[in-house]
Amino acid sequence: MTTPHYIDGRWVEGQGNDSISVYDPSLGAPFAELRSASSAQVDEAVQAARRALPAWKSRPAAERAALLRGFAEQLGARREELIALQVRNNGKPRHEAEIDLDDAVATFDYYAELAEQLPQKNRDVPLAAPGFTARTRLEAVGVVGLIVPWNFPLVTSAWKLAPALAAGCTVVLKPSEITPLIEQAYGQIAQQLGLPAGVLNIVNGKAETGAALSGHNGLDKLSFTGSNAVGSQVMRSAAAQCRPVTLELGGKSAIVVFDDCDPDQAVEWIVAGITWNAGQMCSATSRLLVQDGIADTLLPRLQAALEKLRVGNPLVEEVEMGPLTSQAQWLKVAGYFATAREEGLKCLAGGKALDAEGWFVSPTLYVDVPETSRLWSEEIFGPVLCARRFTTEEQAIAQANDSRFGLVATVCSADLERAERVADALEVGHVWINSVQAVFVETSWGGTKGSGIGRELGPWGLSGYLSVKHVTRCVG
Ligand code: NAD
Repeated sequence: MTTPHYIDGRWVEGQGNDSISVYDPSLGAPFAELRSASSAQVDEAVQAARRALPAWKSRPAAERAALLRGFAEQLGARREELIALQVRNNGKPRHEAEIDLDDAVATFDYYAELAEQLPQKNRDVPLAAPGFTARTRLEAVGVVGLIVPWNFPLVTSAWKLAPALAAGCTVVLKPSEITPLIEQAYGQIAQQLGLPAGVLNIVNGKAETGAALSGHNGLDKLSFTGSNAVGSQVMRSAAAQCRPVTLELGGKSAIVVFDDCDPDQAVEWIVAGITWNAGQMCSATSRLLVQDGIADTLLPRLQAALEKLRVGNPLVEEVEMGPLTSQAQWLKVAGYFATAREEGLKCLAGGKALDAEGWFVSPTLYVDVPETSRLWSEEIFGPVLCARRFTTEEQAIAQANDSRFGLVATVCSADLERAERVADALEVGHVWINSVQAVFVETSWGGTKGSGIGRELGPWGLSGYLSVKHVTRCVG
């Protein structure tokens, strides 16, 4: 790992100020070290992307599509290695790491298909006025900075890289300093496929490297996924240059369970929504709203399910939930356990860090949590579920919408008409009905309110990297 930065088609050593240790969170022990990229190296990466832009954006879309298919194939070919790295660095159970890999592969294949369709979108525009013709032309936005977090690194980067490259943009990607290894694969694949130098650059580092990228005046756009605190700084640097941003930020999402549900089935959906990736999901459904008539049946079953969840090193086959990915995250979640004790919250399960060498916490359930509790309103980013009861559908909708975030929600009800009605009333970007959080590349991802700006995935994800031009001609 002495050359972790991929700049202008070459792997180079870091010259930045930060030394980065990469950890196995199941052991709390480092297994790799690297030096961050300096601001000058970020500048080199942006300049390389600028130089590569004219040729890449004018390359036939079918050729860009073929290269994207190559990414999908090569990810598939490195399946075992990439799964193992995610298990080790993220602490994900193997079946979760497998889904991440499949998701990344599907994303590259999907945007290859959309790239192939791009030329047909450049069409004549019928005009009511005589004497003129007009045509639409979709063009790459330009050089794009991509900054991503650590919770689903392979996937989050794929959701940005694939549509950006499909659109004809050139990119500088900054992975998270917590998981800087997995995205090296994208640079290695780019090199292997003969992607022209400068089309895809990767710079690693912490906040200093991220800020050097987000504030660089050579970017045409920035796409950021991460916390609201950093998202707001990134937006400020974009504002200084009046530059477009896409922001995928935090969440405090609701799962609404109506009386008519099968309680065991509902428990499955609730547990998945808060313990997948050890609850380190922007989309974690961390606020449970349960209707009065089912609450006394459901909550004890939920408690039992959380208590029997097997937590441990994901290398052990039967483990269902791994550790938190970083010590900082573990300390943050432990801080919320302390706040819950100070606030006198009623804890039905967990509420503590595990006495183990890695960064483990127990799946946790607090009930009858007041709306004024910090745990009800703040994003915790761990397996910590807060529950409240409701009586009417209107109350459920009002409580679910009473959040500064608006990322996702889940509705559980046997009355499908009601479930659809509630889904329509929820102020979020994605709703699941009677389901785990299945994410399909054809649908969109992104939030309302404090959860961000813009959408990823689907055709909307591609639009984020395209600029619309019209050419109008006077024909006399
Ligand atoms: P973070 O905001 O701390 O870091 C995200 C990225 O920003 C990292 O690469 C980091 O190095 C970089 N960064 C840090 N300071 C910076 C600065 N001053 N300027 C530019 N870049 C900087 O977030 P995190 O802890 O890595 O991830 C967790 C957060 O991400 C949670 O809030 C979660 O909800 C959110 N998230 C959102 C989505 C979504 O799709 N909405 C998906 C995953 C994660």
